[in-house]
Amino acid sequence: MKIQEADAKSLLLAQGLPVPSWTVARSPAEVGTAAETYFRAGAARVVVKAQVLVGGRGKAGGVKLAGSPQEAVEVGSRILGMDIKGITVRKVLVGAAVDIVKEYYLGAIIDRAARRITLMASAEGGVEIEEVARQNPGAIHRVSADPLLGLLPFQARSLGLAIGLRDPLLSSFVAIAQGLFAAMKANDADLVEVNPLVIASESGADGKTTQRLLCIDAKITLDDSGLSRHPKLEALRDLDEEDPTDAEARRLGINFIHLDGTIGCMVNGAGLAMTTMDLVKHYGGEPANFLDVGGGARHETVRGAMGLILADPNVNAILVNIFGGITRGDEVAEGLIEARAEQAREVPMVVRIVGTNAAEAAEMLRKANFVTAASLDEAAEQAVALSKGVAQ
Ligand code: GDP
Ligand code: MN
Repeated sequence: MKIQEADAKSLLLAQGLPVPSWTVARSPAEVGTAAETYFRAGAARVVVKAQVLVGGRGKAGGVKLAGSPQEAVEVGSRILGMDIKGITVRKVLVGAAVDIVKEYYLGAIIDRAARRITLMASAEGGVEIEEVARQNPGAIHRVSADPLLGLLPFQARSLGLAIGLRDPLLSSFVAIAQGLFAAMKANDADLVEVNPLVIASESGADGKTTQRLLCIDAKITLDDSGLSRHPKLEALRDLDEEDPTDAEARRLGINFIHLDGTIGCMVNGAGLAMTTMDLVKHYGGEPANFLDVGGGARHETVRGAMGLILADPNVNAILVNIFGGITRGDEVAEGLIEARAEQAREVPMVVRIVGTNAAEAAEMLRKANFVTAASLDEAAEQAVALSKGVAQ
């Protein structure tokens, strides 16, 4: 689950990271009110940033500076309603603009092969890290944390040294890197990224300028499987931007992942779902989705799952493969019959149901004129043929 920059910043603040304060605004008037507050507090400029769950907002024109409350309102009204990579901007972040001396990249990811959290840093900040990885991979420095010991201070320090930081900023970097690691662990995140982490120049009341590190952007992706351990984080889900299919799958309690093929698959059990997809490919077809209805699926769930499959216009054949255990064949058959009664377009379907109450299911499907198959191989082969328009 991706969360908005403003929410990611809250999670970083909770770990003690230096994040400049911000206000979320949903209308030009709210942008103006927020901007006035920052100008009154002494800001020379404010920054207005689109809150959308995609990267590269700056390049797309979704990050702008303004020198007065009026200008902030103008900039805000331009950004609100803007389309960034297919997403309409509904809210913006407003804050005092930072005087940037230099931009760095700092991120934490899970290195699945090493089974560790890896921290990455680069002196080439502000640009997308994938771009740096392509053009200048040597500019990305990494350390990986021991799962038991955590990120040790010397590791964080070596990372800071590698990107050219020296004390007193280096000590601050060590604390930030450790805070990033802590944010990763505390929230079961998959990714925590600060890009850019900047050296900010600030002038004090005495006219002297000082430099310090600030996190001016934040991106956090939470591990969906870890969310049950953090009920409060569920509230950060941005329903404005959630794919309606994903929302419906979550409501139904099924695992659904959209793919690019043409054969809709409905299966119970993740392993069986993968096997089914393998067989579809083996017979020359392409699965349109991964769908695990779970154990003990009721007819309503099956009906809902069929709705998700049919919502994909690329689907031109459906393969149902159920291995009944806790899941009852007759319950699945009932769901399929209900789904077909309400479906808007005709899509050929092959059904294979074995296990608990398979005989009852077979009888129900026969009466309703469904195409059934006895084995998974046969079912997959038929589904591929149907998808290619070959009559069976
Ligand atoms: P992204 O493009 O979606 O990653 O959005 P960022 O928050 O990273 O902003 C993009 C760029 O805008 C940054 O790399 C900075 O160069 C610039 N920027 C963002 N906030 C400020 C700010 O407060 N002051 C200044 N001077 N530049 C900023
Ligand atoms: Mn950024």
